[in-house]
Amino acid sequence: MNVLTYRLPRGLNIAYPPSSCPKCGQKIKFYDNVPILSWLILGGRCRNCKSPISLMYPLTELAAALLFLACYIKFGLSLEMWHGCAVIFFMLAAALADVFTAVDENFECGIIPDTLNLAGFVTGFALSWALYGTFTFPLYGALTGFLGLFIPSYLFKIIRKKEGMGGGDIKLMAVVGAMLGIKSIFFVIFASAFLGAVFGITLQLVSRQKNIMLPFGPFIAAASIIYLFYSPVFDTLLYSR
Ligand SMILES: [Zn+2]
Repeated sequence: MNVLTYRLPRGLNIAYPPSSCPKCGQKIKFYDNVPILSWLILGGRCRNCKSPISLMYPLTELAAALLFLACYIKFGLSLEMWHGCAVIFFMLAAALADVFTAVDENFECGIIPDTLNLAGFVTGFALSWALYGTFTFPLYGALTGFLGLFIPSYLFKIIRKKEGMGGGDIKLMAVVGAMLGIKSIFFVIFASAFLGAVFGITLQLVSRQKNIMLPFGPFIAAASIIYLFYSPVFDTLLYSR
C-alpha cells in the first residue's frame, strides 16, 4: 500500500524497480522490508547510509494491521471480512496518496490516482456480485456517491468561480458507493464534511492562516471506515421510523 501511494501519483511502475533507499539508492533487502518490524530493528534508519526512514511507514502499516484485525473480530473469517479489508485497503491508500501528494511541493494539490479509484470501483462491483449476487447495489451507490459530491462542487464552482473540490474526491465517493451502497453515501458525505470542517477550522485558528487547501480524501476515508463498522447504528438512525 505504501508503494502504491508513493508511485501511482508519480506515474511510476508499481512492480519495477524494486524498492530502494531514496537517499543512497541501495536496494532494500526483503528482510529489511518486513512491515513495522524492520523499521524497529533498523531504528528507523537505512541499513546502508543511515538516513532516516519516515515514521509514516510503520504507522501506516500498524493502522492497516489494526483495522484488518478489527475486521476479523467484527465479521469472522468470512466473505464480509474480505469485503471489509478491501474497503479499508482502498480508503487508506486513497487517503495516504492524497496526503503525501498534498505535502509534496512537486504537486499543486493532493491527488487520488485514477488507477486506484478504478481498482476500488471494480472491486466494489466484484464483491457485491460475490456477496449479494447483484450489480444494482454498487451501481446505485456509485451514482449517488458521484452526484452527491459532483453537484455541490459544481455549484461551488459557478458561485465562487474557483475549484472547491478535486475530481479525485468525487471519484472516491463513487468508489465508496460501489463498495458500501447507497445508504452509506448520506452518512459519509455529512460525516466527512463535518470532520473536515472541524479539522480545517481548528487548523486555520492554530496556524492563523486563511484559505488553507486541505486534502478531503482522508475525511471521506475516515467516514467510510466508521460506516463499515457501525452501519447498523447509522442505518437505524437515518432510515427507520
Ligand atoms: Zn540509504
